[in-house]
Amino acid sequence: MTAVVPLAPRPWLADIRPYVPGVHAPGGDGSLASNESPIGASPAVAAAVARALPEAHLYPDPLARELRSSVAAHHGVDPEQVVVGNGSDELIYLLALAYLAGGGRAVCAEPAYRIDEISAQVVGGSVVKVPLVDWRHDLEAMAQVEADIAYVVNPHNPTGTTCPSELIREFVDRSRSGLVVVDEAYVDFTADPEQETMIPLVAGGRVAVLRTFSKVHGLAGLRVGYLVASREVADTLRKVRAPFTVNSLSQAAALAASTDLAHRDRVRGHTLRVRGQLIEALRSAGLRPVDSEANFVLVPSGHETAVVDHFAVHGVSVRPGAALGVPGAFRISVPSDAGLDLVRAALDRLPPYLAESNSRS
Ligand SMILES: *Cc1c(COP(=O)(O)O)cnc(C)c1O
Repeated sequence: MTAVVPLAPRPWLADIRPYVPGVHAPGGDGSLASNESPIGASPAVAAAVARALPEAHLYPDPLARELRSSVAAHHGVDPEQVVVGNGSDELIYLLALAYLAGGGRAVCAEPAYRIDEISAQVVGGSVVKVPLVDWRHDLEAMAQVEADIAYVVNPHNPTGTTCPSELIREFVDRSRSGLVVVDEAYVDFTADPEQETMIPLVAGGRVAVLRTFSKVHGLAGLRVGYLVASREVADTLRKVRAPFTVNSLSQAAALAASTDLAHRDRVRGHTLRVRGQLIEALRSAGLRPVDSEANFVLVPSGHETAVVDHFAVHGVSVRPGAALGVPGAFRISVPSDAGLDLVRAALDRLPPYLAESNSRS
């Protein structure tokens, strides 16, 4: 018998708590666990996908040149500063491969966006987690940490809170991390996205900004995100990435979505209006939602599982906080108008003891 090397995963993988996705409710309007668009994609997307389909036998453009040009023009940067990925989650994994593999260090908030944490652990990096203060990043404390990457999620997931843009700019100046990655997946839902975005800082070389087509553009199922960074960081990620991860239908869809700003503005308008109504409905039921500038609301509650089950019985899926690092809470996405009716009906029947919140922070 020849000796065989025993099969074992890399030892650092043992500590990883796997990602737990949200579940869909039967009938789309009650699906409020994953921050998906209640309105869907621009009508231009279906047409663009249909036009691209006859070319499905050809490999996609590995560099997504048309999409990159569109996105770069929109943000006023060079297309070479843009990297397109299979969702922004892929770009977070590429950042981990390039800057954290084999002992690098990331600093992020506690609770963090789970992918930031998991991707660092996957490549054998370590993660320093700095607890939120009043549900917001403690930028002061995060700045003191020497890390290869500092992740700032603005607005944050799972809390929906933002840090004022002056404080993030100050953080970039003071941070002891090599690269500050600002994840702006939800920036379109803030009061002033143009003021909030850190894209103007990427030219300095120490900031990278992540954006996604999954939220305001409603393309979560097609998996397209992008990173805007210095030329040097973008070139490094292009070296690391697999060439064909963003398929041709997705590229066509995202290109169409990127130019339909009227649709984007409709989704933004709906989200801001219904977010206010959702918060009001939650408060009327005795709950104490965290102030949100995203397309979801975090609600601390002492009865996570019972509340999640109660919503499920009424056709509404919400995200249990334990899966997001906020045990006891639940996170609910901004619904459609029909979805809001379902939420109100569920809240009308919420047993009063389930509304007692015991907020942790
Ligand atoms: C939803 C979300 C994303 C987007 O992920 P995709 O892979 O682009 O779908 C990125 N970051 C955060 C914090 C998110 O919540």
